[in-house]
Amino acid sequence: MYRLLFFFCLSIFFSFSQNRCGSEEYRNMLIEKNIFIKQKKANQNIIRSGQYNIPVVFHVIFNNDQQNIPDSQIFSQLEVLNQDYNAQNTDFTNVPEEFSDVTGDVGINFCLAEFDPDGNPSTGITRTSTEEFSFSMSDDKMKMTIEGGVDPWDTERYLNIWVCNLNGSLLGFSTYPGADPLIDGVVIDYEYLGVLINSPYPYNLGRTATHELGHFFGLEHTFYAGCSDWDGCDDTPPIATSTFGCPDFPQESCNNVVSMTMNFMDYTNDACMYMFTQCQADIMLSTLISQRATLLENSFCEYNNVDEFLNQKNLVKVIDLLGRDTNHNRFNIHLYDDGSVEKKYIID
Ligand SMILES: [Zn+2]
Repeated sequence: MYRLLFFFCLSIFFSFSQNRCGSEEYRNMLIEKNIFIKQKKANQNIIRSGQYNIPVVFHVIFNNDQQNIPDSQIFSQLEVLNQDYNAQNTDFTNVPEEFSDVTGDVGINFCLAEFDPDGNPSTGITRTSTEEFSFSMSDDKMKMTIEGGVDPWDTERYLNIWVCNLNGSLLGFSTYPGADPLIDGVVIDYEYLGVLINSPYPYNLGRTATHELGHFFGLEHTFYAGCSDWDGCDDTPPIATSTFGCPDFPQESCNNVVSMTMNFMDYTNDACMYMFTQCQADIMLSTLISQRATLLENSFCEYNNVDEFLNQKNLVKVIDLLGRDTNHNRFNIHLYDDGSVEKKYIID
């Protein structure tokens, strides 16, 4: 009887944990396939300077109209990311007093890529019709054009986010730093991207992408290795297992230590996770600067919010200092259709 109960509990645990995030399992699969270089430990001694803007491309892969999500859903996701990664989320004020000293502001901005890898103007969204009704985490087909998915844009220059119908109840998964460049990026099920008014509670506020990007920038789950507390951060209290639902505060774990269930790197409902810690913010930024620095070299990234994007002006011409047409990455002048002119220095 006990054994039966044990297996029953175990299967519930696995179904829940698979549901929220597949990144740890995915990393293990890549290690087995020998396409994962051992993760370097991020140097947390960082000096912040200026803005960190990352160009994002969303690859929407659809088999039917429902899966072909509207632009508005993508804009709402971008807004959530920019709030959560700058401690600007409205629910940030819910952080309990107990943890107010250790909250972290990552200080990274995300924007839709303004240019594709060939230098053509882009919305930062690609749309691809596919024969595949759904995709599996185990074979990466969504990341390959030849398999009914979409090849990534240069993963050193763009953050690639694939949006598709994932098999089963998986919400999303991400590569950690060190994965093969051909598959580097984040995958989110189309039903859990952005803020959705109607469905599907409780993962309807865009926090799946917030969580997955944490992995992309080198974070572990707060419950990684349980009470041994090997998540790389002393300011995230040890916690025995992942947390589901929306528990009241305080909860205790690991010999009466108060749990930080509201951390983005736990598994609670979207509405019940709303903070990173200082250590997590430092790990992410140092990962960006040291291991993903090429993402910052593409200065075709200007919009920090949706309004700005919707009111965008269109680039009509790029000329050099002598007025000649150019597509070289140097000191250039950009002419826009609203008559404005901007000087740009673009590093190759
Ligand atoms: Zn995760």
